[in-house]
Amino acid sequence: MSLESIPGQPRTKRFLRQLFRSGHIPHALLFSGMTGIGKTAMALELAKLLNCRAPRDLDCCDVCPSCRKIHAGRHPDVVPIEREGAFIKIDQIRSLQTRFRFRPFEGNYRVVILQNAHQLTEEAANALLKMLEEPPKHNVLVLTTLEPQMLLPTLVSRCSHVRFQPLEERWIEQHLMTVQEVPPLQAARLARVAEGSLDRAVRFLEEDRLARWEEISAQLESLQTLPMLELFSVLNQWVQKTEDLEQDMECIKLWLRDLICSRLLSDYHPVFPFHEGLWSAACRVPAERLFLLYDHVEQAVQHLRQNANKQLTLEGVCLAIKDGLYGQSSWNSFPPGRQNLSF
Ligand SMILES: [Zn+2]
Repeated sequence: MSLESIPGQPRTKRFLRQLFRSGHIPHALLFSGMTGIGKTAMALELAKLLNCRAPRDLDCCDVCPSCRKIHAGRHPDVVPIEREGAFIKIDQIRSLQTRFRFRPFEGNYRVVILQNAHQLTEEAANALLKMLEEPPKHNVLVLTTLEPQMLLPTLVSRCSHVRFQPLEERWIEQHLMTVQEVPPLQAARLARVAEGSLDRAVRFLEEDRLARWEEISAQLESLQTLPMLELFSVLNQWVQKTEDLEQDMECIKLWLRDLICSRLLSDYHPVFPFHEGLWSAACRVPAERLFLLYDHVEQAVQHLRQNANKQLTLEGVCLAIKDGLYGQSSWNSFPPGRQNLSF
């Protein structure tokens, strides 16, 4: 690997190369962006470049002893830090302080890669902040995080911030086909739903998420004709059979996102083609209502995380879709003869 071999992120690569050329390496860098877009890989390649014995074209050689050791995870001056349990704790930062008292053992720079810095406990974050007030020379700290807002503003302000971009769909598709040997249609669909993250695409592949998405799409389309009296038993079976309802909710979100994009963007092609009945229903309702349904599902996911009743949560979502999208108020779908029941 080298900087160049990391997919995408041309601006970041340019920036890091400029730093290397200038010789002014900041003592702290913050790499932010979604998971699976190469933040940690870029930090490792930067560590290689800074310590490479024969860099060329502002990139590491990838073959010298230093590059090899970093690649193998055996370089004493490249220090990865990850959470222990749920958090990155103060003891981990303290042992880093001890290390920082010494010069790098064999490289030009000690590069500390602190992954998911938003997992720092408050006291660990404060200890890190103190370290950054008087940064020792020849040490570079690379923090990674999803969103800079998840960190203490004082911590962000002490770092040079580099924002990573989502990967291109086309690249993810190619990677899935060539490296993972995924058939082209499946690769194209996975790349579409990965939203720029290779990790996400691979996870969806491993979980066979596309097949589940297809099943759920059919289920949601069937809501249009499903009588109310049958709805609850169908949803009961859904809850009994599903392996992960929260993941199913993610599929519902993707399905709604596809509907919204198809409504708003004339050149958008849905990942799975919509059936006629669904598409004409989606065209009849205002787009704002589709956004409201999307919000509704997002809230349902939050409720599930707080241990809300699964059956009631799924019922809430499906009733909202049946009502909001297919325009069926709860009572209209009662079978003939039950219409006049009053409650
Ligand atoms: Zn090298």
